[in-house]
Amino acid sequence: MPLDICQQFTDTIFRDGPSGLQGDSKREGGRLIAIVGFVCFTVSGPESPVLRKPGMNGRSLFGAGVERFRLTHHPVLRYTVCMRKTYKYRMYPTKKQGKSLNETLSECRWLYNHLLEGRKSTYEQTGKSLSLYQQQETFSLLKAERPTLKGVHSQVLQNVAVRIDLAMKAFFRRLKSGEKPGYPRFRGADRYDSFTFPQSGFSITHDDRVCLSKIGSIKMVSHRPIKGTLKTCTISRSSTGKWYVCFSVECEPERLPYTPEQVGIDVGLKTFATLSDASQIENPRFIRREEKALAKVQRKHSKLAKGTPQRRKHRKAVARVHERIAFRRENFTHQQSRQIVDRFGVICVEDLTVNRMVHNHCLAKSISDAAWSQFFGQLSCKAEEAGRAFTRVNPAYTTQDCNRCHHRQKMPLSERTYHCPCCLLSIDRDLNAAKNILALGLQGRVVPEAPCLETGE
Ligand SMILES: [Zn+2]
Repeated sequence: MPLDICQQFTDTIFRDGPSGLQGDSKREGGRLIAIVGFVCFTVSGPESPVLRKPGMNGRSLFGAGVERFRLTHHPVLRYTVCMRKTYKYRMYPTKKQGKSLNETLSECRWLYNHLLEGRKSTYEQTGKSLSLYQQQETFSLLKAERPTLKGVHSQVLQNVAVRIDLAMKAFFRRLKSGEKPGYPRFRGADRYDSFTFPQSGFSITHDDRVCLSKIGSIKMVSHRPIKGTLKTCTISRSSTGKWYVCFSVECEPERLPYTPEQVGIDVGLKTFATLSDASQIENPRFIRREEKALAKVQRKHSKLAKGTPQRRKHRKAVARVHERIAFRRENFTHQQSRQIVDRFGVICVEDLTVNRMVHNHCLAKSISDAAWSQFFGQLSCKAEEAGRAFTRVNPAYTTQDCNRCHHRQKMPLSERTYHCPCCLLSIDRDLNAAKNILALGLQGRVVPEAPCLETGE
């Protein structure tokens, strides 16, 4: 494990960037001088990872506002990262249970809209905003006014208020940062599709059924065992009427053994992805087929007059195709990202948010776009858990630069091979880009001053 190396030498902790441990050292003139050892975490989860070192008492470095932190005099570095993971299972409620699930959703929706209205009118009248607790305090009164609310577990109702609170906070944050704010919306009948038990009120029975307070014990397909401590439980209804249960658990990350292999990944329309080791991931075949199915069903949908029962009914058919695409895409990207994370210790990809994800009419492109961002998202999650380094780089010029001599030239889309006039390199266009992405990623990844860092005294 590279942890040993990190334990012995200087460590640098970055605030941003993927988590990972990487270690290397070399001996020069009889002295151990170079280390490339760093620990970095993504501060993305609900709780920041906690880094413990002597004297820190497990205080979160990120919470303490430390941007970048160097440890030179602490030979013992122990870190524990608690991960949050979500397990999602399909649920098969009986008719009666389905009815009470739907009733719970509609009560939650009513409460959501009611609380939102409360926030809105208070803000308009007094210019002040209600707090989460002020709203939660009103619940006993509300239950007296609306007895049907009593049919819902109290913590589920509390969670609705939390959702409002989060939505409002997000709204004010957007307002502050000058983005287009978009006030939280009132939810229509089909626009409220999940509710959460934040602490209790749910359990898993010994025969793998999920037991929900005030609803009953529901059949669940437990396709994989849960590892970790159960924290929350969210029930959701998909647009096609399927029911799912999501358990959020707290668990220890499953680290993978260290590997020095590094990879850059370029995504493209011709092949799904090209790796810097010249291997390729072919486009999944379903894209073509689903593209046709989607076009067909959408064409039919647009022909049906708005507001008619036929159109309402047909909406399910459209939703079904979208759902099928989503399932297949997810399956594909999960498999591919798992393979990459198993094989490589450092993974560099292009940042798709930079000038790329523009809306376009080409269906194949839009399906691929979604698949790529999902693929990268899963790579990031899996890498973080496995202790691999994952980084996104700015894709500017990655196709135009020669990966050997850095000569830059225009590359029209039709040109599949990169011919460098300077060093006479002739290389596949995507492979060249993948190599550039890897090089860029390593530039950002490796501690700049690492080669001359001295070990702690
Ligand atoms: Zn060249």
